[in-house]
Amino acid sequence: MEKIAWPDEIGGEILPDAPDKQPQQLRGPELNAYIMKLFKEMCPSTVARHLGENNLEIKRGLELRLRYMKGGQVKIPNFDMTRQQSLSGFYIQMYGEEQKGDDICGRCAKNKGNLVGCYVLEGFAKGACGNCLSGSGGSVCSLADCTPAPRKRKGSVLGGSLSKRPREDDDEAALDGIPSKHLETFANFLYSVVERRSRSKPLYPSVLYYTCFFSFLFTF
Ligand SMILES: [Zn+2]
Ligand SMILES: [Zn+2]
Repeated sequence: MEKIAWPDEIGGEILPDAPDKQPQQLRGPELNAYIMKLFKEMCPSTVARHLGENNLEIKRGLELRLRYMKGGQVKIPNFDMTRQQSLSGFYIQMYGEEQKGDDICGRCAKNKGNLVGCYVLEGFAKGACGNCLSGSGGSVCSLADCTPAPRKRKGSVLGGSLSKRPREDDDEAALDGIPSKHLETFANFLYSVVERRSRSKPLYPSVLYYTCFFSFLFTF
């Protein structure tokens, strides 16, 4: 691996000697020096590769989000900064492009996560922001490009997808060979299931009930 020239100053501030442990600070040279030390010692290979290919300059120091506890106490977030996931997130926060206004991801907009600011890096972590990546993994970030491939619909009647999709003519054709009497019996069975469920769970089954009811009406 090519040797990376980690910066010894950020935003004009010379970094001091790095402390051995995470300093109890939300931001500042000491925290940044500690982060740089972690990068020098255990830089994730994805970060090294991206940095090498794009030759980026560091843009800013890291900022942690103050945690508000029950009872009004506050504390510095305490999480494992040496994890590869954490370091990859720090890399985005310190080298990435700031997201503003409507471009801010869902979690950052709600002030969630350990880091302040929503930053992304093109071609890194599928576009997830550093705050989401360092915490729960990039897949929770609303900016991340991790849309799953559309799943093929299964033939399950109670699968819950009934209400979400428009009726297709094929559905009726599929029922052609079944005598109406049998369909009626099946529909009654569904009603009884839905009714049983609606007694235990109030909201969702009633939606299902009406969905079944209306699709029954359309079927005959
Ligand atoms: Zn974000
Ligand atoms: Zn995010």
